Amino acid sequence: MKIITRQQALAADLRTYFTGEPCLNGHIAQRYTGSKCCYECDKIKTKVRRAKPRVEYADPYPLPMGERQLCRLAVEFVRLIHGAMA
Ligand SMILES: [Zn+2]
Repeated sequence: MKIITRQQALAADLRTYFTGEPCLNGHIAQRYTGSKCCYECDKIKTKVRRAKPRVEYADPYPLPMGERQLCRLAVEFVRLIHGAMA
């Protein structure tokens, strides 16, 4: 397989690239340009995800509020602190 760096892949608008170096799990495979994820790792991840029953992965970390709301609260918190310091 031809060795292409991520930079080259990005420049050529390619979906995958290949460094010839093993990933963290020891796979020598193509990687996705966007996520840098190894092709073999991604395949395994997909398999694991599909093998799990629906209920289990529907909401593994149920949040009491939406992310957007959390963000707004964080902004308000920062404002409050700055207000207290002023
Ligand atoms: Zn891998």
